[in-house]
Parts: sequence; C-alpha cells; structure tokens
Amino acid sequence: MKPPAPPRNNSGNRAGIGMTSARTRERLVQRLRDQGIVNPAVLDQIRNVPRHLFVDEALATRAYEDTALPIGHGQTISQPFVVARMTEALIEAGTPGKVLEIGTGCGYQTAVMSPLVRFIYSIERIGALQERARQRLRELNISNVHLRHGDGFQGWSGHAPYDAILMAAAPLAIPDVLFQQLAPGGRLIAPVGPEGRQQLVRITRRVDERRGDEFHKETLGLVSFVPLLKGLN
Ligand code: SAH
Repeated sequence: MKPPAPPRNNSGNRAGIGMTSARTRERLVQRLRDQGIVNPAVLDQIRNVPRHLFVDEALATRAYEDTALPIGHGQTISQPFVVARMTEALIEAGTPGKVLEIGTGCGYQTAVMSPLVRFIYSIERIGALQERARQRLRELNISNVHLRHGDGFQGWSGHAPYDAILMAAAPLAIPDVLFQQLAPGGRLIAPVGPEGRQQLVRITRRVDERRGDEFHKETLGLVSFVPLLKGLN
C-alpha cells in the first residue's frame, strides 16, 4: 500500500521540524527574554508565528535565529528581537484599536502583531512583496489585516486617525502627514536616521487643554532598518 501523501497545505509544515521545531523556537524565545522582552503575549507570538514560512525555503533553517534575513527585492524580514521590542512598545498602554503599519515586507511583523491589536492597515511600496504577504496571511487565517500597495510617505488617510503607527523602514525624519494621522493619545514607533545610525523612537501624541497638541518623544535604542523610499515599485 502507498503511504498517505504528505499534507499540501500549510497546516502540515506550520509546526516545523528540525531547525524549525518547537525546541528551536523556544531557544529564540529564551534569547529574547534574556535581552529584556517581558510581555508574555509578545513572547507567545514569537513562539507561535511560523517565521520559517515567511522566508525562502533555502533560508528556513535560519528562520529562528535572531537576525534579519533577505526576502528579495533588496529587503529583509525584521530581526525577531526588534519585532518583539516594537510590538511591546506598541501595546504597553493597552490594546490599540487601529494600527497603521508602514513596510509590510513579508508580513512577519504584521502576523506577530495581529492578535494583539484590533485592526491593522499595512502599506508596502513593492507590489510583489505585498502580494506574497497577502497570500501568507490568508494561509495563516489572519483576517484583521488590510493591505495596500502604496507609499508610506502619504500614510493612509482613509482610515485615519490611528491609535498606533509602526514603521518598518527608516526615514531621515518622520513625515508630517503621519503625525496628522495619529489619534490623540496615539503612539508612533519608528526607526529614524541614516543607514547604520538609526534610533528607534516612540512618539506619543498628547492633547493638553491648555498647551494644545504635544508630541512626546522617547528613544528606545539603536537599530538597523532598510531606508523608507519614495514611490511605488
Ligand atoms: N516588518 C517587515 C519588514 C520589511 S523591511 C517584515 O517583517 O518583513 C521594510 C519594508 O518597508 C520593505 O518591504 C520596503 O519595501 C518597505 N518600504 C520602504 N519604503 C516604503 C514606503 N515609502 N512605503 C511603504 N513601504 C515601504
């Protein structure tokens, strides 16, 4: 008798084997804990989201290393520590309702964030990456995410204001339009600066009766992101 055919859909390889197994993932979770990630919901997402399905098969064995990896078109999947740090900073003050993400890439950060927020509106300027991200998120049954092929320099005014904005590509300075699309009390997390010298910042919009609008800035450490680029591809 012939053995049954291996499963063709993702549910078969979602759990992973060998270098993508539960044990390998647990090592990554422990490493992030050692580096100061404390939010259990964020650590659970790092454990549960199958990062090996977001990279080329040839790189799958490296998917649970704490490094950025190429995803084609000169772009990278973000480093797990940075994804965890940004997600933690985003949800620290409670569950955001609407999140604008700039730079969907392969959709990994989107997938990690998705159960921790209500809705994600995510923009990507490279059409081919966006299409692949759409397919993966669908295969993982993630349904609170709206994707758009667009230029993050414009934000996404149709769904503004956002409780949180997360940038996965670094501008030299945060575009003004993004401040305008941030809700009162909302927070924006972004790498800012030239390649190789970026600071991760969190900006909180505070509306004070007497002083009016204030944007309070905190720095969260040095990071390395691809640059935010203009126009579509
Ligand atoms: N968090 C993503 C990181 C992707 S890298 C992941 O885990 O895969 C950053 C992404 O930002 C790239 O895909 C790049 O194409 C995109 N990007 C750069 N400039 C952009 C812009 N102006 N608008 C939208 N996306 C942009």
